[in-house]
Amino acid sequence: MARPATTIESVQAALDRLHHAVAAGQSRTRCLRRWSEMVRERDDHRCVDCHSTRNLSAHHICRKVFLPEAEFQTGNGITLCRDCHVGLHRGFNGRPDTTEPMDAQGGEKLRQMERLYCILDQDAVERDRLQPGFYDLSEQVLAKFKLFMGFDPDTVFPGPPVRQAYLIWAQTSLSVRRAIAAANGAPMTDGPILPGEAYIVIGGDAGEQVGMTIKDPRWY
Ligand SMILES: [Zn+2]
Ligand SMILES: [Zn+2]
Repeated sequence: MARPATTIESVQAALDRLHHAVAAGQSRTRCLRRWSEMVRERDDHRCVDCHSTRNLSAHHICRKVFLPEAEFQTGNGITLCRDCHVGLHRGFNGRPDTTEPMDAQGGEKLRQMERLYCILDQDAVERDRLQPGFYDLSEQVLAKFKLFMGFDPDTVFPGPPVRQAYLIWAQTSLSVRRAIAAANGAPMTDGPILPGEAYIVIGGDAGEQVGMTIKDPRWY
């Protein structure tokens, strides 16, 4: 039997229940359940990636172990089906080593995070669900992401929080940029690079083009 479509009001009600559970200091298990219910209601009970409506769960885009403060933040959650979910945890959940930097287990995981924030932001725009509180990430969390990528935490990225998260993870880190700049004897911006913008396209020794950009989100 088809489930009735979700509405702004039904998502708001799920958000209110989550906020109430957190404010009332309810158990972590209970708060996580409310968080998961809110995320799935907001995402219309379908996988945001492939739109399947079977075997759904709410996934923390940035792992809880690295970002405990975002455990109940709505912008860190995305609804995924089992097929789309299982690969994200593969080789990963056994014994997380929190003393290692976030990408110690490979840049692939960072690319996956970038992609999930991207498709979540697009889904919000396409379904007109960008309501206050529906896709929240705190300034503290965004500052952590910026620091990880080598940016000053005050660096401004445009858009609502989830889009900012996507844009931050889509950057080439400043250390890599500086290395490219040094290798080519050219200056390099320390500012954010936004979709559609390309920086410093120059001919290398072999006449090749050296530069960087980030893809338009629509590419996903
Ligand atoms: Zn899926
Ligand atoms: Zn997950």
